[in-house]
Amino acid sequence: MAEDKKVTPISTLGEFGLINRLTGGFKAVNSGTLKGVGDDAAVIDSQGKKTIVSTDLLVEGIHFDLVYTPLKHLGYKSVIVNLSDIYAMNATPQQITVSLALSSRFTVEALDELYAGIQLACKHYQVDLVGGDTTSSLSGLVISVTAIGTANAEDLVYRNGAKEGDLICVTGDLGAAYLGLQILEREKRIYLEHPDLQPELEDADYLIGRQLKPEARKDVIEYFKEFDIKPTAMMDLSDGLSSDVMHICTQSGVGCQIYEGEVPLSEDTYNMALKFNLDPITCALNGGEDYELLFTIEPQDETKLAGDQTFSVIGQITRKEEGYILVTKSNNRHPLKAQGWNHFSG
Ligand SMILES: [Mg+2]
Repeated sequence: MAEDKKVTPISTLGEFGLINRLTGGFKAVNSGTLKGVGDDAAVIDSQGKKTIVSTDLLVEGIHFDLVYTPLKHLGYKSVIVNLSDIYAMNATPQQITVSLALSSRFTVEALDELYAGIQLACKHYQVDLVGGDTTSSLSGLVISVTAIGTANAEDLVYRNGAKEGDLICVTGDLGAAYLGLQILEREKRIYLEHPDLQPELEDADYLIGRQLKPEARKDVIEYFKEFDIKPTAMMDLSDGLSSDVMHICTQSGVGCQIYEGEVPLSEDTYNMALKFNLDPITCALNGGEDYELLFTIEPQDETKLAGDQTFSVIGQITRKEEGYILVTKSNNRHPLKAQGWNHFSG
């Protein structure tokens, strides 16, 4: 933080003063939000729909590194990863709660930054902050976000509905967030050894952006509604395609084959992977933190996705006995491996 910035210890506000300062600017936009921050509990009217709840816990040093993560980005991302889980149920997020454990090194101004990111995510995705808790921590920062969403019962999509013959699809492109993390980790190492060197970040905007400021696929859920598509199974990509597709297969009692040549990679991802001496496809299969949607559809629905660049059909659901197979560009068949080498995934 710059030397000339105002620095206020949290103790000068007290817990309730702090809560008022951090949440005072949040105004409810959803009619189901009957009571937000300010009473003992929030009151939510689900208006005859099903309620969907998802929670994530983010721990400094495990899930994020404040050396290269601006607090505003961290606030934004901590909301996004939860909203992504609600969208992955084909549901619409409506409210969030945010709880923090803080050590004394965090100032009021630092928390203002964190909450500016939280508020931006709330605005962008039209969700209301309705509660939370703030407490002390002996060491680092801990952030817990709970997202609450609604859906009509018949619209909900689980992980266990994939059937033999269904097509496996993903949105966007994969592997970029992982490479963004590799760049940030490299620059951190260089900075620690040579603080006077300028970071080498050219051609890295897209990749670093995918790591520090991911988006959730609200647009895809809206597309499904508009074009009357109901996936047979769905989840968001947080751990990496290989391990995530296996979750769908295990829960659905099926096998899969993924076509290496169909897995979407951005040009930036491809080029940066080679710079790091990594196989681009391995980054896409095992990188994690893409927050894209992985879903299966019945083959007759494929035409409804056609022509939209957001979607890639990357494989097919097979019988369970056929296992999990990666079909390479040269048509070789290998068992798909879930390496999960990204320990930063949530
Ligand atoms: Mg998920």
